[in-house]
Amino acid sequence: MTLQVQPLEITLRKPFRIAHGTSTVRTNAVVHLDGAFGEAGLPPYLGTTADDVREYVARLDLGPLDGLPPVHHVLSRLPEGPSAARCAVDLAVHDLWGKRIGRPLYELFGLDPRMSPRSFVTLSIPDSLDELREQAGRFGPEDRLKLKVGSGDPDRDLAVVRTAREATRAMIAVDANGGWSIPQTMRLAPLLHDVGVEFLEQPIASRDADDWHLLRRLLPHHGVPPIFADESVFTADDVVMLAGAVDGVNFKLAKCGGLAPTRSMVSVARALDLKIMLGCMIESSLAVAAAAHLAPLADYVDLDAPLLIRDDPFDGVLLEEGRVLPTGRPGIGAVPTSTYAGTGA
Ligand SMILES: [Mg+2]
Repeated sequence: MTLQVQPLEITLRKPFRIAHGTSTVRTNAVVHLDGAFGEAGLPPYLGTTADDVREYVARLDLGPLDGLPPVHHVLSRLPEGPSAARCAVDLAVHDLWGKRIGRPLYELFGLDPRMSPRSFVTLSIPDSLDELREQAGRFGPEDRLKLKVGSGDPDRDLAVVRTAREATRAMIAVDANGGWSIPQTMRLAPLLHDVGVEFLEQPIASRDADDWHLLRRLLPHHGVPPIFADESVFTADDVVMLAGAVDGVNFKLAKCGGLAPTRSMVSVARALDLKIMLGCMIESSLAVAAAAHLAPLADYVDLDAPLLIRDDPFDGVLLEEGRVLPTGRPGIGAVPTSTYAGTGA
């Protein structure tokens, strides 16, 4: 059975500015497998391109996959390779499995989407505080807002958080995308706690767990928000190394390598008493739908990419009362829209 790879251009509704840079267009990749689909979200920081996904897939032999594909047997034998490429294959195999059985993945995983937490909505680094005040003011007390900071000016970052806090009673989390140093984090974390920030995500960029343990020793025991790691967590080993230094981890399918490894990493994180956030990249509703099947496992969900992109090439999620839910169709349950240019659908 052959896998085909199609580049997938994603256009953002407006420029998306975070500490890593500003994006207006991203190119992801879609894997096709006998009417099933998987997506590789390809943010620049992963360093993986659609061509890398094609190269990875070209050297795979998944076998015949007749009847019900033996998902765990197939996926446990995937060769090493970029996490996003492995994710796209993992998603396509799961989608095929669900479609052949005729049931949505959440049901096959024994999960109830009604248990999914509300999703955060992300506001990227604003051009002006007035613009932010107006944007944040639209959110009510039940909403969850994630503010991107890491502008290069920590005092401006603090002003962003304080401005949003004054404008809304929504839950506010802060994501620095590694834009702060350890001393900057030590100064800002207590101030974020004072304005009621729910948690602080990826304050520092380091992938060295020793730096995170150092940060933890330097921060006060009380009066700082819980600290979450995102870009520093790719594998279960990363989770183990960061335990004790962070309070939670943000899992994304494209980093973790798809549904199967993410489910394993959730178990590892739970065993280590870590909070779990389930996030996404700038991705279509194909990848976001796949993640939505696992949302009942998470304490926090950040699956708002369908709100950030224009002309979504897949129809795969329902937005209900702030939650991002799978459709209930078999497999991942995402179908190409008229804007999807891929072949082999
Ligand atoms: Mg993040």
